[in-house]
Amino acid sequence: MTHRLVVGVDIGGTKIAAARVDGQARVNAPVTLPTLAGQPFEASLDQVYRSIDRCLTADTSAIGICAPGPLNPRTGVVLNPPNLPQWRNVPLAKLVTERYSLPCRVENDANAAGLAEVLFGAARGMASVLYVTLSTGIGAGIILDGRIYHGKNGAAAEGGHVTIDWRSERICNCGTPGCVEALASGTAMAARAVLRDPALDTAERIGQAAASGDAAANAILEETCDMLSAWLGSMVSLLDPDMIVIGGGVARIGDPLFLRLRERMPKRTINQFAAHTPIVPALLAEHVGILGAAAVMMEP
Ligand SMILES: [Zn+2]
Repeated sequence: MTHRLVVGVDIGGTKIAAARVDGQARVNAPVTLPTLAGQPFEASLDQVYRSIDRCLTADTSAIGICAPGPLNPRTGVVLNPPNLPQWRNVPLAKLVTERYSLPCRVENDANAAGLAEVLFGAARGMASVLYVTLSTGIGAGIILDGRIYHGKNGAAAEGGHVTIDWRSERICNCGTPGCVEALASGTAMAARAVLRDPALDTAERIGQAAASGDAAANAILEETCDMLSAWLGSMVSLLDPDMIVIGGGVARIGDPLFLRLRERMPKRTINQFAAHTPIVPALLAEHVGILGAAAVMMEP
């Protein structure tokens, strides 16, 4: 069932943001509380409850939560997130459902943001979408026929951990060599860029310098777009999506990034329709976590 008025809760490592969201994606009375991730688990769970208490009204019909992974969206259990070190196998959806007598589901950030872009944002009306969050890491969400694709264990869509260079000496945080996250994330871009120019220490600075014609910054951006195009081309070969939506801090580089990806991705796939697969910036910047969490309870 699609819920009309949902409390969306976005649990992060440092803060919890929550608000009531209606079917038009209006965010009402947002609240922000510290997560207290360093304190015992009960303290941060109380902060989750406190944020819900502040948003709940009599006509609220569901509670959607997005939380740091790994988690199982099918069971609503948060497993062992690195940035919530006190959380171990927490049955969050069950706890919230019992406390408030309302349906609740828990989803990871990138899946939720992808669904929000489909319901409310850049991919509105699209059935099958690859959502990418390009920031310090690389996350992905796959929406197939209007629904989040979860896989057998709820562990699907780890697009950032697709290997693009199996012989790479760069070992990803996941332990595998040559994941696209290890080679083309904002962190990886900056790590390569500072070897050429110490001032190019963030993706934002690389983007600015590239826009003003800086040769080193442009070389880094070229390389990064080659890697991302190879990866996105593979994703298009696999999924043949209606659209690719890219959000996250690195996407704010804008045209210098998107124009290159649009030009190169179609050359890196067998999909003969790929030149007509739009690659667009995410539309939902502010409150994307809250909207994503709410979207999970509005999925058709
Ligand atoms: Zn990896």
